[in-house]
Amino acid sequence: MRIVMLGAPGAGKGTQAARISEKFDIPHISTGDVLRGEINKGTEMGLKAKEYVESGKLVPDELIIDIIEDFIKNDSVKEGFIMDGFPRNLAQAKKFTKMIEKNDLSLDKVVNIAVDYDEVIKRLGSRRICEKCGNITSIYESKDGKCPECGGRLIKREDDKEEVIRERLDVYEEQTRPLIEYYKNRGILLNIKGHGTEDEVTERILNNL
Ligand code: AMP
Repeated sequence: MRIVMLGAPGAGKGTQAARISEKFDIPHISTGDVLRGEINKGTEMGLKAKEYVESGKLVPDELIIDIIEDFIKNDSVKEGFIMDGFPRNLAQAKKFTKMIEKNDLSLDKVVNIAVDYDEVIKRLGSRRICEKCGNITSIYESKDGKCPECGGRLIKREDDKEEVIRERLDVYEEQTRPLIEYYKNRGILLNIKGHGTEDEVTERILNNL
């Protein structure tokens, strides 16, 4: 199963990608996680990406393409993969199509999770990430600032600040939203309503894959 997750920031791509990855036992790559990891480690890539990520802009395509090329070369993706956060614009999508065809692979489904912007702004504003285990949670699920899964410290992403959220939504509208049409035309788009609980959304996805 080879899947791409699409959707606005805060639609629940990361949460659902992790669940699908576990269910089908296929590797999951989040380009946002890779970039945040590089930023935290202070690598050359991290230094190049930091300003873009923290201001809600897309990092240059070349950086992302390098990450994806490395991932695709890996033997573990032969049985399947799930992409979360890539592709993010038409240039990346076209490059990705060529890349997977070159590797004799094809995409099975592009899962587009649709949510209202009001909901997204609320979700991102309350979202917290566990520093220790990476669990994505919210202030509503943790009263003491600790991860409900492992007790680790919860942090707010730099780009989950209100002014950056708005920039990310603008970037999504202008650059990422056109991918819905791109994949619809290729006949592999699956539209999923993103409201309700995480379990409900997972069920909708699994029933349609
Ligand atoms: P995410 O965790 O997917 O919301 O990504 C966080 C940030 O990482 C984005 O706002 C971008 O700055 C950067 N990013 C992640 N994926 C990509 C991509 N495919 N192309 C360009 N920038 C990306």
